[in-house]
Amino acid sequence: GFVPLEDIPVWTPTADVSGEPVCLRNEKLDQKISLYRGDITMLEIDAIVNAANNSLLGGGGVDGAIHRAAGPMLKKECASLQGCETGEAKITCGYGLPAKYVIHTVGPVAQGRVEKEEKKALRSCYKNSLTTASKNEARSVAFPCISTGIYGYPSEQAVHEALATVREYLNEHHDKLDRVIFCVFLPKDYELYLQNLPLYFPAE
Ligand code: ADP
Repeated sequence: GFVPLEDIPVWTPTADVSGEPVCLRNEKLDQKISLYRGDITMLEIDAIVNAANNSLLGGGGVDGAIHRAAGPMLKKECASLQGCETGEAKITCGYGLPAKYVIHTVGPVAQGRVEKEEKKALRSCYKNSLTTASKNEARSVAFPCISTGIYGYPSEQAVHEALATVREYLNEHHDKLDRVIFCVFLPKDYELYLQNLPLYFPAE
């Protein structure tokens, strides 16, 4: 069944971490982060982010799963948006999904090779998705691991960009969001987030 926000545990940092924190502690951000392993289409929250392609007309991976679960009305609304540039984000209704909105963002195609441009585009995806959520008063937002599937962005590098960008946004706009959920599908990604979350959201 659907997973309501209340059933998604808040992530809390542990004091003993492997690496050096890259950010200072900010107690205003306590209770704002979740790490969830499972299907993003089941989340009963304000907004889920879709790792879409430039056409916004649906694809494989998480995009396909979101369109299947939302039903044909989603494709209809997406078709009216005239595509989306890489790094940008556009919002639609959730239709058959338990989430109220879908925020469609287009990650960079990396195929294992990351340079400045891809890194900048991936960061823009996270930033523009959060800005779009805030503008629409969506207070709970879940992200899949954008670009790390078919688009081939190396997972560990992607985790750092995701965490750095979300942390940066929350520093400025913590009042606008109640929860940011990193919704991972693969055990490897779950481990990477567990390892790296305390570096960006340290306990002390
Ligand atoms: P991209 O084209 O941006 O690389 P993909 O959909 O291929 O996007 O992969 C992005 C991530 O989404 C991958 O980590 C993949 O395992 C994950 N994923 C696939 N289906 C789902 C789902 N239903 N819920 C959450 N994550 C998913």
